[in-house]
Amino acid sequence: MAHNADQCETELVRSKSVDEKVAELELKTRALHDAEPLARILVLYTGGTIGMVTKNGVYEPEPDCMVQKLRALPIFHDAEYGDAHFCAETEANHLALPLTKEEVRVLFTVEEFEPLLDSSNMNMQDWATIAHRIQDNYDRFDGFVVLHGTDTMAYTASALSFMCEHLGKPIILTGSQIPIYEVRSDGRDNFLSSLIIAGNYCIPEVLVCFNEKVFRGNRTIKNHGIETDATSFSAFKSPNMAPIVTLEIDISVDWAEVFRSGTTEKFSVATNFCPNVGLLRIFPGITAQTVRAFMQPPMQGVVLQTYGAGNAPDNRDDLLQLFREATNWGIIIINITQCTHGRVSTSYATGKALRETGVIPGGDMTPEAALTKLGYVLSKDSWSLDKKRKMMSRNLRGEMTTSIQEEISIMDHELIESVARTLSLSSKDEIVKLRDALYPNLMCAAANTGDIPALEKLRQTGGHISAANQDGRTALHMACQGGHFSTVQYLLHHGASVHIKDYHGDTPLINAISGKHMSIITLLVQTGAVIPLKPEKMAVELCSAASQNDVDTIKAWHEAGADLNACDYNYRTALHVAVCTYNTEVVQYLLNNGAKTDIQDIFGNTPQSHAEKLCYPDILKMMGQEPAVNHSE
Ligand code: ASP
Repeated sequence: MAHNADQCETELVRSKSVDEKVAELELKTRALHDAEPLARILVLYTGGTIGMVTKNGVYEPEPDCMVQKLRALPIFHDAEYGDAHFCAETEANHLALPLTKEEVRVLFTVEEFEPLLDSSNMNMQDWATIAHRIQDNYDRFDGFVVLHGTDTMAYTASALSFMCEHLGKPIILTGSQIPIYEVRSDGRDNFLSSLIIAGNYCIPEVLVCFNEKVFRGNRTIKNHGIETDATSFSAFKSPNMAPIVTLEIDISVDWAEVFRSGTTEKFSVATNFCPNVGLLRIFPGITAQTVRAFMQPPMQGVVLQTYGAGNAPDNRDDLLQLFREATNWGIIIINITQCTHGRVSTSYATGKALRETGVIPGGDMTPEAALTKLGYVLSKDSWSLDKKRKMMSRNLRGEMTTSIQEEISIMDHELIESVARTLSLSSKDEIVKLRDALYPNLMCAAANTGDIPALEKLRQTGGHISAANQDGRTALHMACQGGHFSTVQYLLHHGASVHIKDYHGDTPLINAISGKHMSIITLLVQTGAVIPLKPEKMAVELCSAASQNDVDTIKAWHEAGADLNACDYNYRTALHVAVCTYNTEVVQYLLNNGAKTDIQDIFGNTPQSHAEKLCYPDILKMMGQEPAVNHSE
């Protein structure tokens, strides 16, 4: 039986709305051929000084004005790009950063909270709202920026770090000391830096970006001008951990410090925060009555702020007895220091006495981290009290230093050593540069052959698990391409990111699909990977596979989450193509998996009308239709 798709289309009459469809088609085709690498960021604007204006002599948040103001600032919006790519009516809150040195076009969408809040007015419900907005949009964006007041930003950042489980994308909180609308403002730099970092560096953490530095959020505290100049723009510091990113002439990321969840579970949020927690700062002469009153129901968790290295008076039997009793009632008490820097230890008898009452040492956690961690852990109804206590002493999100990491010498790796010798490199800086240049390629090469021992050696000697080579490809891309399931498992368990795009915009999932490695695709999807393509592009891939009768490729796309009814730029689906090319195996698979027979393409054809016009009774039967009588005969 003859079946010619081109001939079939020319015979057909155009539907009425064809002009509109053609206009839309032009736009879509333009976007399709736009090869520029893109990153999409969702900005959640919750309030804070950054968007305030002066009213009656005081700062107040001003609703409905951030987007217009940003749109008018060329550093925040490339108007030419915006006019060509965004629909003025439906995408009014979409903005495009001008291209930076990083060469990824950062597009951002601003979602304004209602009402906008001074962060002093925020509560646990607001943290949950932010977490839910991130969850609802997780697959559509590459990263998130939260505009927030500085007063309680450290609390929100800490809370989000716990609430966001198995996080694989950056969430950056920022704000400012001077509103963004004023002539001089730190807000513009903070906001821009956050967008650039979120769009270009896949750091899977909740971060705080302020004054050219990016800190782990649950390590930050607000500076209040005691140690720094009160008028400084450094509103935050991270007393027990160096910044993860510094933005100077170059942007440098300390990848070795990046915390990775190392699980193969999808991102989720846990927003049932236990509110029955409190901070108790002891002071000389504090009475047992005060402490007893504090420990009354419904109190479930207490952060005890003690002296120096975690010391409380060991000559106060009344207090120690009270802590013991409270622990027996089921209250979790966690000990942190009142000092800004340092950690609790049991090297003093006074600290040891506290430990013996059942109080848990909290290491070097900030008060904000300790409190929000308690609220998170206590909300886990399925965990026993014993498990909750254990989790409190564990490092869950990089909030505490559990052991002093042994300094691993970069010279441990013989290859680096011998190359350094050959090149006569001697300074540590030179060798670090050499390592940074060589390691990503070595890791990719090891992953390409599924060589887990080599990967382990590279990792132990300082290799960053998600380091990208010159093509922007990581070890995970290579292992997925090569179909090395155990290597993929190994990399994911060590925190490799499933979201990193190479310079062609491909994620490891795309590589696994092109290799048709089904078990790897399943594992990646389980870990939270999603197809990084727009539906039109995905449809082009499906149509192309359908035209070649390549059922396995269609199965791979389907396993990866592709919508089998996705339409290409001509509104054609894989089923249109499979019918026209008489690839019955593909037709059967598509129909078995929910492909629709009545989707109209730009010419008004449906897969079923194709089958009728081309007289394919067997296909019509698969579609559950009686073969039509062929009137042309
Ligand atoms: N009161 C403001 C707030 O926290 C302070 C600021 O944004 O800097 O919302």
